[in-house]
Amino acid sequence: MAEKITMSADGVLQVPDNPIIPFIEGDGTGVDIWPAAKLVLDAAAAKYAKTIAWKEVLAGEKAFHETGNWLPDETVTAFRDYLIGIKGPLTTPIGGGFRSLNVALRQILDLYVCLRPVRWFQGVPSPVKHPEQVDMVIFRENTEDVYAGFEVEAGTAEADKLRSFLHDSFGWDIRENSALGVKPVSQFGSERLIRAALTYALAHQRRSVTLVHKGNIQKFTEGAFMKWGYQLVRDEFADQAVGWDDCGGEPGSKLLVKDAIADIAFQQTLLRPREFDVIATLNLNGDYLSDALAAQVGGIGIAPGANINYVTGHGIFEATHGTAPKYAGQDKVNPGSVLLSGVLMFEHLGWTDAANDIVRALEATIAAKIVTYDFARQMEGATEVKCSEFASAIVERL
Ligand code: NAP
Repeated sequence: MAEKITMSADGVLQVPDNPIIPFIEGDGTGVDIWPAAKLVLDAAAAKYAKTIAWKEVLAGEKAFHETGNWLPDETVTAFRDYLIGIKGPLTTPIGGGFRSLNVALRQILDLYVCLRPVRWFQGVPSPVKHPEQVDMVIFRENTEDVYAGFEVEAGTAEADKLRSFLHDSFGWDIRENSALGVKPVSQFGSERLIRAALTYALAHQRRSVTLVHKGNIQKFTEGAFMKWGYQLVRDEFADQAVGWDDCGGEPGSKLLVKDAIADIAFQQTLLRPREFDVIATLNLNGDYLSDALAAQVGGIGIAPGANINYVTGHGIFEATHGTAPKYAGQDKVNPGSVLLSGVLMFEHLGWTDAANDIVRALEATIAAKIVTYDFARQMEGATEVKCSEFASAIVERL
């Protein structure tokens, strides 16, 4: 009988062999990529006598058509109750409602880590000479920064009021007819994100954690993120990790924690990717950096992602690209992003054998030059297959 995934009192996920996992198919190309990914995930799990009881929950256009609501309460409740779920891409409703369903789910469940591993898979076409040197895991803060949504529109009474307040109370002169936004960065939010990155790095025997920030300009927000990070290493991880300044860049057997200014980090991750391993960063930097790094290893068609709260145990694994509406229903696009998000979910559940099998089978399929259109147009002599055929080819190689 199918069972729930639960969390023990000491914060460890308890995963039965037949877990109930809610999924959102997703809008647009969701109808193509989700069944393809499910086929592979089920086949890999079955090799280890595991069966997932998939529970469909609605969000986005399908939810709106069936219930009149873009994000029904039952969907949020299911993700809350069953802890771990997966989703395809969702259309962002325009005019009213939530600004973004993805952002709404992250905020409601307080999924404070956006986890984006970026590594190259053998055979994937890449614009860089040595994509095999890219092996990074981004921990992007998911609840604060300019994404918190505290913005006022230029020319409104709210903007005028805020501008006057800032002038009267702080002496700040802001140009007339300006839009204004607030960038909250808390010690609590920064520490829990960096704690998660350090814990992950230690558990996965990674070499370093780099705090990427723009603290040279935004001293009290981005700069504080870095400062709190180094202090956290001293306070909570001193026996296993050490900050650059506290060891002169010589960490011995400990995990090295260093930092990089965001703009130079974009250059160095491209030119010297081996110097970067786990990256912890704020929301906006993390958004840009994730897609920029994904481009080095095959693009957003195969970039996986997850939104996690390591304290409550909640996690939603998701395709990182959008709904690509022009391809919807054509059985054409690459299912790699949602499939590899499923692989990430398997790893998170401790199903590493099944996860590794999928990666090996995916690499074997790409090595045989059996690929979807996005890779076929970058490869010589490739056999272009449909989304569903790509999934079947992976299953054959499991
Ligand atoms: P998009 O859907 O990500 O598509 C942009 C381009 O990325 C596509 O035209 C395609 O490039 C490529 N692409 C996307 N998915 C692919 C796949 N599975 N395989 C291969 N290539 C893929 O971005 P968008 O057109 O800007 O956004 C469309 C909608 O998605 C919007 O409503 C947006 O709000 C939403 N969105 C949702 C999420 C999410 O749910 N996480 C994220 C981003 C955007 P080529 O045309 O060059 O082949």
